[in-house]
Amino acid sequence: MNLAAHLVRNAARMPDRPALALGTQTVATWAQMAAQVAALAGGLRGLGLDRGARIAIVAENTPDYARALYAIWHAGLAAVPLNSKLHAKELAYCFDHSEAALVLHSRDMAKTVADAQPRPNTMQMGSAAWQALAAAPPIAMAEAATDDLAWLFYTSGTTGKPKGAMLTHGNLLAMALSYFVDIDSPSPGGAILHAAPMSHGSGLYMLPMVLIGNTQVIPASGHFDPAEIAGLFRHWPDVTMFAAPTMVKRLVTHDGARDPGNLRTIVWGGAPMYVADLELAIQRYGYRFAQLYGQGESPMCISGLTRAAIEAAHKTGDTALLASAGTAQSVVEIRIAEDGEICVRGQSVMKGYWRDPAATARALRDGWLHTGDVGEIDARGVLTLKDRSKDLIISGGSNIYPREVEEVLQTHPAVAEVSVVGAPDAEWGEQVVAYVVLRAGIAATQAELDALCLAQIARFKRPKRYRFVAALPKNAYGKILKTELRMQEQAHVEAGAKTP
Ligand code: AMP
Repeated sequence: MNLAAHLVRNAARMPDRPALALGTQTVATWAQMAAQVAALAGGLRGLGLDRGARIAIVAENTPDYARALYAIWHAGLAAVPLNSKLHAKELAYCFDHSEAALVLHSRDMAKTVADAQPRPNTMQMGSAAWQALAAAPPIAMAEAATDDLAWLFYTSGTTGKPKGAMLTHGNLLAMALSYFVDIDSPSPGGAILHAAPMSHGSGLYMLPMVLIGNTQVIPASGHFDPAEIAGLFRHWPDVTMFAAPTMVKRLVTHDGARDPGNLRTIVWGGAPMYVADLELAIQRYGYRFAQLYGQGESPMCISGLTRAAIEAAHKTGDTALLASAGTAQSVVEIRIAEDGEICVRGQSVMKGYWRDPAATARALRDGWLHTGDVGEIDARGVLTLKDRSKDLIISGGSNIYPREVEEVLQTHPAVAEVSVVGAPDAEWGEQVVAYVVLRAGIAATQAELDALCLAQIARFKRPKRYRFVAALPKNAYGKILKTELRMQEQAHVEAGAKTP
């Protein structure tokens, strides 16, 4: 089944309801969006693209993003949504690797795309050529098999080259349906606010939300601005939003965003949310939070926590559940391998990596996706993520999970962000180092942070060294690059060894 069928269905059953909006302005009803998409699809096919050809999209969040994505599917092509924050060199790699036949990009991305010197054709959304495409005779939706490639999802690549996870129409349909069974039950008249990149986290939310006919709202600024978001919470009904934990924190602590308005649910994911931050978020906005744990290779679908589960855990003081990644979603099974690695199999799991049999064989073994994440499942079926195995610190033979130390440091009012890594140590193998970003205008001394750790965790886990920094290194998706922090530590050790 072709995912674009949901759009065709909405055009029939709710033609005049708002489908796409920029800020508070509706820019298309479902009938209009479906007509635009069918015409764009006709235009794309008119370019002579073969069925299944890959079309890259490089754009910030815009209404055209949603149109382009559905037009690609309607035409029987495959989408390659790429993060607009990638470097031109990284984009060039993805264009080449996916053998993209066409690159659709926004005006703001024109220079970066040109710098990437793509071999394929490019087309700027909104340009005259694009308008011509959009004026083509509409075509009927192409057939798509469950197993056909829909979305080539380049992994964020905190290490090594990005890999293209092949997500099929069947994978994404299972993912969309699972949202309503396992995460939340938004009302059909609601809205989804795309404040995170549509090339990644937020784009996936388009699928369940188009399925039930929620208005796709793109902030007019095109990015995450807490005051603007709060205004949109007031304007649109029953609003759902996906946010990374850092965005949740920025939002709930922003003076201009005190009122949650018609916010229904913020679903967080992509990284762990510290319990202290979740408690603060609940204090500000109430029980309007749900969690998803997934990865590009099984998008939105490994485990999760509903709003009700979070509310119950918060009221009963079940911090273990609040700190966990919840229970397995209904379309997957989870197994913990002997070495602690979380393995998943089910309908949402990718078909493999695009043109990379070696990486596919490493990731998919005996039908199980090896996530690279480490975790535990308790008797209740609750999955708790430990750190990725390469992030684990082994000091004096003892295992130290950075997350546990970060949870403690994060409770200090002066700490804005923290990341704990292992640094080489001649005596202990590794020693614990904490990189700390302090909140503007509030101070914390090393002695204070040390006392906090001594009061809450075993002595051997506390950082031996603190490095107060202005910012933490992050990748294009905002994930902290522990690899880079470890390299800095290595450099410190080498510099130290050279001094007599
Ligand atoms: P990506 O493939 O870029 O979406 O990154 C997926 C990775 O982000 C996962 O393998 C986890 O390491 C991490 N992640 C995603 N969701 C969560 C979550 N809810 N809690 C903790 N870590 C998460």
